[in-house]
Amino acid sequence: MRFYVPVDLRVGADIVHDSADRIASFGSRFLLLTGASSAKACGALDDLCRALESKNCFFRVYDRIRQNPAVNVCKEAGLLASQMQADCIIGVGGGSALDAAKAAAVFAAAPSLDEKGLYAYSWPKAVLPVICVGTTAGTGSEVTPVSVLTDSESRKRSIRDDRLYPVLSLGDARYLTSLPRSFLYSCAVDAAAHCIESFFAKTATPISRMFASRGAAVLAQLFGHMDSLSDDEREQLYLASIYGGYAISVTGTAFPHAMGYFLTEQYSVAHGTACAVFLPAFLRHAASCIPRDTADFEKRTGLTVPDWTALLRRVTPPCGVTLTDTQIEALRPRFVRNSGISRTPGVFTDAEAVETLKEIFQ
Ligand SMILES: [Zn+2]
Repeated sequence: MRFYVPVDLRVGADIVHDSADRIASFGSRFLLLTGASSAKACGALDDLCRALESKNCFFRVYDRIRQNPAVNVCKEAGLLASQMQADCIIGVGGGSALDAAKAAAVFAAAPSLDEKGLYAYSWPKAVLPVICVGTTAGTGSEVTPVSVLTDSESRKRSIRDDRLYPVLSLGDARYLTSLPRSFLYSCAVDAAAHCIESFFAKTATPISRMFASRGAAVLAQLFGHMDSLSDDEREQLYLASIYGGYAISVTGTAFPHAMGYFLTEQYSVAHGTACAVFLPAFLRHAASCIPRDTADFEKRTGLTVPDWTALLRRVTPPCGVTLTDTQIEALRPRFVRNSGISRTPGVFTDAEAVETLKEIFQ
């Protein structure tokens, strides 16, 4: 068993402002990676710029990161970091900005690396340090060594390596207040997916299960009144996403994430929704093949599997996708020799994956 999460995690109101010294301890030249608007709208980017200015740090902002970031965009950002001789890359935003920062840190350290080399881990010994400023509650990327990217064939593929752990992650739950409602829900069910998939994964350990079940229990409480969260509850929601991040940093995810990727790639379904739509089937599968662990999960989270199923169906935003037999059959090769599916408890065959798709999308 191994538990190794070398991240200086700091959470609280005004945490970016209060961490200016710590941020500046990583250098004097920074590249900030963010999306077009949300990190600006929630105030996180302003807070970060002010913190850097207060320490007389030089920085540039690259704001071309989009949902499901493309490898070539990360490479462009990495080259910019290299050209400006950045000491450190800071991702500001949701999972996309944070994951892009991790990949850009690799390209910054190896500007001649291409996509093939990135996925082959032909990396230098050290990559640039990454700081994460999370502005959503879902990804958990703040505490994972994983970066999920979109490759040149429009497929979501992740890289995972200890060199990708952020050196510092900052979370201020006030940034969540400006998130659109459906996005808040999609992020929250992503956190639930991380916790639930991790708890039942073949790779689970007592420590990962402690985080996974705690995160799921907190989410179960908060899902009842997501539209009227207090400041304290908003921070609990953020922390639940972090618990999920700790859990999957140990275990990885299982079939809901593996199966959800096509919904994002082909139908632009938000990542959390795309995974969570498979959670009821995942829980049913877990209950049938590892009933004792399922009873343990129910006890720890205070909800039975039928309760969880009803709750998840209520809070997961609608997918709006229907699939024909031919479309489903075309997806089958994805579910063969798939690492996420292989972490699913018991045996989950491509035939079962196809049946699951028919049940949900027909
Ligand atoms: Zn996820």
